[in-house]
Amino acid sequence: MQNQDILKNSAPLPVLFVGHGSPMNALPGNQYHRHWQALGAEFGLKWPQPQLILCISAHWLTHGWWLTAMSKPKTIHDFGGFPQVLFDQQYPAPGWPEAARVLSDLLRQPDSGLPVQLDAQEWGLDHGAWGVLNPMFPAADIPVIQLSMEYGRPAAEHFALGQQLKALRSLGVLIVASGNIVHNLRTMQRDAADDQAFDWAQDFDQTIAGYLQAGNMPALQDFQQLASARLAHPSHEHMLPLLYAAAAAEPSEMPQFFNTSFQAASISMRSVIWG
Ligand code: ZN
Repeated sequence: MQNQDILKNSAPLPVLFVGHGSPMNALPGNQYHRHWQALGAEFGLKWPQPQLILCISAHWLTHGWWLTAMSKPKTIHDFGGFPQVLFDQQYPAPGWPEAARVLSDLLRQPDSGLPVQLDAQEWGLDHGAWGVLNPMFPAADIPVIQLSMEYGRPAAEHFALGQQLKALRSLGVLIVASGNIVHNLRTMQRDAADDQAFDWAQDFDQTIAGYLQAGNMPALQDFQQLASARLAHPSHEHMLPLLYAAAAAEPSEMPQFFNTSFQAASISMRSVIWG
């Protein structure tokens, strides 16, 4: 399907990487949640309202790359051991199957060159997506499409698909990548204050922030070579969304950081906005 008026030209929207941290952050009550609320309120003021949100979440890993293409994506509670109130949360934002078909035409899977595939049934919105979008856009009236990631593929391929997303920013699409720059659940110290973190966590977080500020995209893609990488990411699905967001930014756009602290000493909440 050609675009033909489905996605309309717009002033460029920013690109976001949001550190989502604990699923409990989806509920009101802490500084992270409050910042997401405040950020969402800037759309329609500082930036145009998005026509569509394209979310890349650490929690949707697939064989090949997929886009959600259902008209009513379900709210997925993909976690365990949390209070019932978290399972009661619903984010009823619509999907947009026609736009998903346009995106599938525009986006090529970086390993095969084939169109990104369409999922009209299986997925929906996982907590990496709705947990941050619900505070940002509580009216749930902007359509949301998720883009999956093939975990096993090299960082360069994830970055290459991210580069394809850049053009969407002028078609009314807000790109929201959701993960964490440091994410080690095994080393969590649950009673740690937000300004406390392990040395290796601080080290990795600061190094990545420096790469982003310097626009050093080759070094960013080589994050697994850093000495603290295995501790920062025992598995690296929470790092990959950052590659998509960084790749969708223009080199002239300086990253701005927010929520630059830690949860449980080993989860960096550092979030980034370009544009
Ligand atoms: Zn997560």
